[in-house]
Amino acid sequence: MEEEVTPIRQQYLEIKREYQNTILFFRLGDFYETFDHDAEIAARELDIVLTSRNVAKGMRIPMAGIPYHAVENYLARLIDKGYHVAICEQVGEQPVKGLFPRQVVRVVTPGTVIEPGLLNSERNNYLACVVISEARAGIAYADITTGEFAATELSGEDIFSLVRAELMRLHPAEVLVPDGQALPGDLPGHETHWPAWRFEPGRCQETLFQHFQVASLDGFGMRSLPLAVRSAGGILQYLQETQPAALKLLTGVNTYSLNDFMNLDAATRRNLELTETLRTGEVTGSLLSVLDHTVTPMGKRLIRQWVSKPLLNRAEIETRLDQVAYLKDSGLLRAELRSHLKPLADLERLTNRVISGSALPRDLTAIRGTLDELPDLVSLLQGQSSPLDSVLGHLSLCEDAFTLLQAAIDENTPATLQNIGVIRPGYSAELDAVVESSRSAREWIANLESVERERTGIKTLKVGYNKVFGYYIEITNSNTDIAPPEYIRKQTLVNAERYITPEMKEYETLVLNAEERIREIEGRTFHEVCARLGKFSLELLQTARSLSELDVLASLAEAAAANGYICPTISDDQCLEIRDGRHPVVERSLAGSRFVPNDAVFEEGEVVRIITGPNMSGKSTFLRQVALITLMAQMGSFVPAGSARIGLVDRIFTRIGAQDEIHAGQSTFMVEMIETANILHHATPRSLLILDEIGRGTSTYDGVSIAWAVVEYIHNHPGLRARTLFATHYHELTQLSELLPSVRNYNVAVSESEGKVVFLHKIVPGGADRSYGIHVAQLAGLPRPIIQRAMEILQQLETSSGKAVRIQPMLPQQIALFPETNPLIDELKAIDVNTLSPIEALNKLYEWQRKYLHES
Ligand code: ADP
Ligand code: MG
Repeated sequence: MEEEVTPIRQQYLEIKREYQNTILFFRLGDFYETFDHDAEIAARELDIVLTSRNVAKGMRIPMAGIPYHAVENYLARLIDKGYHVAICEQVGEQPVKGLFPRQVVRVVTPGTVIEPGLLNSERNNYLACVVISEARAGIAYADITTGEFAATELSGEDIFSLVRAELMRLHPAEVLVPDGQALPGDLPGHETHWPAWRFEPGRCQETLFQHFQVASLDGFGMRSLPLAVRSAGGILQYLQETQPAALKLLTGVNTYSLNDFMNLDAATRRNLELTETLRTGEVTGSLLSVLDHTVTPMGKRLIRQWVSKPLLNRAEIETRLDQVAYLKDSGLLRAELRSHLKPLADLERLTNRVISGSALPRDLTAIRGTLDELPDLVSLLQGQSSPLDSVLGHLSLCEDAFTLLQAAIDENTPATLQNIGVIRPGYSAELDAVVESSRSAREWIANLESVERERTGIKTLKVGYNKVFGYYIEITNSNTDIAPPEYIRKQTLVNAERYITPEMKEYETLVLNAEERIREIEGRTFHEVCARLGKFSLELLQTARSLSELDVLASLAEAAAANGYICPTISDDQCLEIRDGRHPVVERSLAGSRFVPNDAVFEEGEVVRIITGPNMSGKSTFLRQVALITLMAQMGSFVPAGSARIGLVDRIFTRIGAQDEIHAGQSTFMVEMIETANILHHATPRSLLILDEIGRGTSTYDGVSIAWAVVEYIHNHPGLRARTLFATHYHELTQLSELLPSVRNYNVAVSESEGKVVFLHKIVPGGADRSYGIHVAQLAGLPRPIIQRAMEILQQLETSSGKAVRIQPMLPQQIALFPETNPLIDELKAIDVNTLSPIEALNKLYEWQRKYLHES
């Protein structure tokens, strides 16, 4: 059967065989066509027409095509849905035996996109790879639009949650995993499973050797990190298959350790709403949205990284704080710096487009425009010996690159190489010669009419152009007898003759071929310019990095100035002294009413602070604000407080009861306990623990008991004793401070006058004496009789403190309609419930049922 199908069908099938789980975009003229099952998917997902094509006698197959110039948009939609798309192009100028050779030039997957239109300029587009082996895991990630390539190795009992936390931080677009390897559930990014042999250690090591042209991985700090090697090797091989052109961007791999920055588990990252809110998942309302005043796409990506990666090294933090302070103090300098940064293009991604060979003419003018701004920007900051000098040290003016671009690329370059005018006159002698000769040929033709009229004396002689004959000379019939002999007659019209001359045809050829020649030379020259520019890429990328740092520092300074933040003091001990702290996000969302600042000053010997207070009084806000202020300080940001002294925190753990969290198959209480267990296993004396309403998800007695035991454990375990803020509405827990020396009670102040209760949002020493839950119920609009009755019950409960409680029953009003001498009521009155055993009670019930219900 096969030999009957058309040659092009055979070619298609051969290529498709190599790309089974991928949609193949097969270039046919101006279209990318898809066939068979691919066509059905494309038609469905892209909402395009499904047609069919003849491939053999009497055999039609499904086909769906998209115009090549609109490919980005369609690609975006497929990639977004997690499909991989192989782009198969025509290669070569000439058909071979009537058929163009074709070849897959790249495979587009979520993590390997390079089209600017498909990328979000505000965040990195990471391809990550995870290799897990027992209690260890290697994670590598690369962004082929910026050249970032890094790997790490994790270990721990609960390896899945470590992996998950790191992936939550990276937020990759795609995660590559060996076939058959389990992953923690609910991860960001599309999963791509790849044959396990690709991740085989020897193979991966060899791939790294080859790629980096090295004989040892020691230089990358990977010597004793076999899983990091396997995950990095996996990434390189995957790129070889999908995006070979991108490989040269990855010039080194940076091995990092999670000990380099503050470790935030996935739950904490979410609970603190660092880069997106819990409720909407959007940036607005997150910590990032308050701090982000960056003006360049590079800065936007970097500040997101900083927020996700607080530092652990005091000197590094202080360097950043000094830089922010410098820019905060000088409002004028900051404004000027930001206005110089604002017009800058995405130098990082543009440079990488140059290296990978995907740059277009306007990308080069954008780089030039950016470099053009640098001298002014640098002179603004230079020569005053400031904390920014260390950043400036890495910022090069890239003069060689600038000179090259200045000389080579035209001011008004067209967007693509399809049009001419890319290369600036004077750069290429070859190009200039062609342009010049075409220009003079054009001129010669333009003058021809008047020259020939003069020469022949024929006033009506005309020079014209048509598609069939090209340029011609037209003479009306009355003058044809005096046409010069060298005129060659080409066409006879009703009342005129048209001629050509050999000389004229020569010039015509010059004019018509020139454009094609120019395009060819410009294309070639452009690629040469890119190659030369590529030699400066390290300098360009380092400059891009410095610019993004300046942008982020200015952004933090701007946020500090706009919101009245102060510079925190960082110390190596375990102090925590925040005075008049505020919640950076909530304080901005309080329209009209003012945010009430609160202290969090741990006194000597204090370990656990229990905060009691009614619902809605501000406990959760206070807890989060302490965590956020700590985190902001360690990322090098100013903080919303009157003053702050913060002993370096190695990790922040949060357990915050999010009501709207519904995990598949797990009860909220189970999730709460899993998270609490995680904290108790991993916290150290340097950690900060934020425990909000632990035990809320179960019955009151269970809840109080668990919460109680957790506090005792943190307090007593010598390997723990971490600074802990524990919010609860169980005021039973306030008794702990009398029993444990390092526990302190605080509560949220409430003012009560004439039966009206007002929450003051002020955290004050001492335990709450009441929970005000009924007050909240009233605020929520529960019917008045219920509120009154609840107050009665509360009073009874409170007066019977400690002992088993017996609530006076309140019976339905209808009871009064029965005779006062209801025998059941009499019997009930006679019984002492406290002395009744369960079996006796049960028997009593049976007895009554028989007596009063069944008899009647
Ligand atoms: P709780 O955890 O005690 O139930 P929340 O922390 O959730 O209370 O706070 C409830 C609301 O009270 C918040 O949404 C906020 O509007 C307001 N609030 C909290 N803290 C303050 C404060 N310090 N100043 C002003 N309003 C606050
Ligand atoms: Mg709360």
